Amino acid sequence: MAKSQLQRLLWLQGNKCFYCKKSLKPADASIDHVMPKSLGGKDIVENKVVCCKTVNQLFADMPMKEKLRCLIQWEGVLPCPKPPSD
Ligand SMILES: [Zn+2]
Repeated sequence: MAKSQLQRLLWLQGNKCFYCKKSLKPADASIDHVMPKSLGGKDIVENKVVCCKTVNQLFADMPMKEKLRCLIQWEGVLPCPKPPSD
């Protein structure tokens, strides 16, 4: 079920990462809670975006304010870190 939601969200985003806008395969994608659950964010679709696994790990439980600041610093298109090549 979680997987199909990821695929649906990804499709709604044009199969692109929410943050870096690069083409994203489901295998490299993960669901990011815009407002982290640990800070009271709800587990609802309105609070979810699909993004590269790498940036999701980087954001982790970062407050929305910090994420916004980061996006603004990068002028709206954040370069997601590359996944470790192995
Ligand atoms: Zn990305």
